[in-house]
Amino acid sequence: MALGTASTRTDRAHTVRDLLASGRRSYSFEFFAPKTEKGERTLWNAIRRIEAVAPTFVSVTYGAGGSSRDGTVRATERIATDTTLTPVAHLTAVNHSLADLRNIIGRYADAGIRNMLALRGDPPGDPMGEWVPHPQGVHYAAELVQLIKESGDFCVGVAAFPEMHPRSTDWDADIRHFVDKCRAGADFAITQMFFLADDYLRLRDRVAAAGCDTPIIPEIMPVTNVKQIERFAQLSNAAFPPELADRILSVKDDPAAVRSIGIEYATELCARLMSEDIPGLHFITLNHSTATLEIYENLGLSQQS
Ligand code: FAD
Repeated sequence: MALGTASTRTDRAHTVRDLLASGRRSYSFEFFAPKTEKGERTLWNAIRRIEAVAPTFVSVTYGAGGSSRDGTVRATERIATDTTLTPVAHLTAVNHSLADLRNIIGRYADAGIRNMLALRGDPPGDPMGEWVPHPQGVHYAAELVQLIKESGDFCVGVAAFPEMHPRSTDWDADIRHFVDKCRAGADFAITQMFFLADDYLRLRDRVAAAGCDTPIIPEIMPVTNVKQIERFAQLSNAAFPPELADRILSVKDDPAAVRSIGIEYATELCARLMSEDIPGLHFITLNHSTATLEIYENLGLSQQS
């Protein structure tokens, strides 16, 4: 093993849990596994540019259906072995037996990965379709947290929802089930994307009022084109602020102006959140680094790295 690789492994021994416990903020970026060679080149171009600002961690989403799952595991393993970055591996319970889940956890462990994001996942196809657990699998993310914790010394993150999980019947149930995941051993949480700081702050207060102090990292995704307005709502259930939609639509024929409004809005949202006691920021990149790195720079974070 080359010396560089060995020292990379040592650096990577830290976990998101240890970093947050030290009182430092976490800054991280999320990618998805590409399905084509061109997509692979785009992903690695973005990863290398983001590596230069030395974020706390990067994560790769786990495909909903199955087709991109191998790609997720391979991309996450490659980040662990070929870069200086700390990967957080997403893992979902969809269509997996306990044996499958243990096998994937083992692969991640073999690549030196210590941090995972434990998610139930949505049914492939229609995310709001009927959720059918694998007969030998788990029903809820809390069980997956437990499984990962029992499998080794892993730091585990979970999902949180500033506008309530769309399947939750009410806020009380939503918070109770979130707290269950933390009591099962979750060390940190990352939210679904959102557009209003107050939604995040209300969630944080509700969780604190339930006696839970698990750090909740807000997830940010800048709007960079008009089509995303509709797509965001479909994907995340996040309410799109009408004023932001109006501003974007008023310049819809000028892609550069649309992008600039999206980046300005996301920068202001981050700045507002940073004026509160947040544990960090997690940026969705869609495998393109320029917009999120621009926000990172606007916030003065690149000088800190
Ligand atoms: P859970 O915590 O299991 O909750 C699901 C629903 O069940 C909630 O309504 C909850 O309140 C309810 N519930 C929980 N426990 C119980 C119980 N004991 N009894 C009754 N009801 C209960 N999806 C992917 O496919 N791949 C990814 O990589 C991915 N990454 C994500 C990253 C982040 C940061 C976020 C926020 C989401 C991500 N998702 C991903 C989407 C996620 O899988 C879906 O939102 C999914 O519907 C919920 O997952 P969960 O882990 O929160 O589920």
